[in-house]
Amino acid sequence: MHNIIVIGAPGSGKGTLSRFLQNEYGFYHLATGDIIRNNIKNKTKFGQQCLNYVSQALLVPDNLIIKMVESQIATIKKPIIWDGFPRTVGQANALDIMLTQRRSKIDKVLCLDVDDEVLLARIAGRLICPTCNRVFNIIKMPPKVTNYCDDCKSQLQSRSDDDPAKFRVRLQAYHTYGQALLDYYGKQKIIHHITSNDNWVKVKVKVIKILDLSQHD
Ligand code: AMP
Repeated sequence: MHNIIVIGAPGSGKGTLSRFLQNEYGFYHLATGDIIRNNIKNKTKFGQQCLNYVSQALLVPDNLIIKMVESQIATIKKPIIWDGFPRTVGQANALDIMLTQRRSKIDKVLCLDVDDEVLLARIAGRLICPTCNRVFNIIKMPPKVTNYCDDCKSQLQSRSDDDPAKFRVRLQAYHTYGQALLDYYGKQKIIHHITSNDNWVKVKVKVIKILDLSQHD
């Protein structure tokens, strides 16, 4: 098992699930949103190219994002958990080509299904660590010390694109492009749907089973 994609609307828990698989099962967590935010923060050329799109809650054009992903995967040796990429069929095609060149492929696609109302409520309390990108929720997954990251102790922030108007634009983008992606992987019969409205423990157990991983204590 070398490449797992996590698909889901913004706020569906892709980052939390990916981080769990990274920490407990040694996956490499490749999150294009985190990479973009880090590049924007560090004012790199790629970050500057993405800034306008991200601040308007639009998708970064395929050519830019695909080039960045190509440069990232060259050195990764671990199994990869893909979080936030691909987002379009164009990106999915490009990823297939990249992986074929490396004699690899997408093994499974996990789709986190969450109702829109649950997403909207969840996003209202979402906080992110600007240093390690760990995600918290004021109500459902609060940090041990209010407003500070459990891991790197940085002060938590809300994401500027989590404001309700921008969030709706991102959600709309997911519904538009996400369905085409689900059709793309649906034809390959590698999608597993997981209802993730509330019970995180059940989600973990289901994912462990789908990926055929051994349960840790
Ligand atoms: P995320 O953290 O995955 O919600 O991504 C935050 C923002 O980064 C998105 O709203 C897009 O503007 C941009 N982004 C992240 N991944 C991609 C991608 N695969 N394709 C295009 N834009 C992306």
